[in-house]
Amino acid sequence: MPAFICNTCGTQYAPTDKPPAACPICDDERQYVPPPGQTWTTHETLAKRYYNGWRELEPNLLSITTFPAFGIGQRAQLLRTSAGNILWDCISLCDPATVALIKGMGGIVGVAISHPHYYTCMVEWAHAFNVPIHLHAADREWIMRDDPAIKLWQGDTKQLLPGLTLICAGGHYPGGTVLHWAEGAGGKGALLSGDIVQVVQDNKSVSFMWSFPNFIPLSAPRVEGVVAKLKPYAFDRVHGAFNDRTIWQDGKGVVERSAERYLKIIRGDGSYELR
Ligand SMILES: [Zn+2]
Repeated sequence: MPAFICNTCGTQYAPTDKPPAACPICDDERQYVPPPGQTWTTHETLAKRYYNGWRELEPNLLSITTFPAFGIGQRAQLLRTSAGNILWDCISLCDPATVALIKGMGGIVGVAISHPHYYTCMVEWAHAFNVPIHLHAADREWIMRDDPAIKLWQGDTKQLLPGLTLICAGGHYPGGTVLHWAEGAGGKGALLSGDIVQVVQDNKSVSFMWSFPNFIPLSAPRVEGVVAKLKPYAFDRVHGAFNDRTIWQDGKGVVERSAERYLKIIRGDGSYELR
């Protein structure tokens, strides 16, 4: 039986005879169903029509993106450390070329994902490398293909490897997670932020949304919550969920100033001025 994949969000479901009747991830207000209706594919079909492209973001950090664009279009990131490599966030296509290249770099010791929109084909990745997937327990209801590889964690933080800390910052989802990499940015620290902290077009600011496709803002208390959870961590760089979305310096200052800007508007008096 095929494990069907939703074409809109890239989420893979447990194997079934026929495609699922609906995709709960896309039916949720944080995603969308295209007007012509939901359509489905399989990993086998995907591997014939798509390929993954690579970029080095900085030493020991590579991004992996599927071409042509598939699903939401996010990038996964391969983070290399002396204690083992981690796949941060996930994409639907885990083809033989990608597996061979990653194995050539020492494989991975685990997968960690920011939030349910990037769960995608996480089980394919876990099986290809025989490694655990670390997800925050607060979002367990959005796991559409359960598997023994999935390890749920709870609380505010989880030490993944030395110098690698998962931080549950909430926001977009209750279990919304970012990865702090202490050795990133030449030792100044880097944040792999998914779209819990969304790096925007100018690469000089970030924003926050409850629903990106439907343009529904995140509430002010949740934005403050994200900033508070990041307070104890130093980071100069923020690598966002999409290609060309990286804050290259003063990442923490950028996050704090962007949050202040956001809060001024959302709590403002309706004037057009930010100040
Ligand atoms: Zn979907």
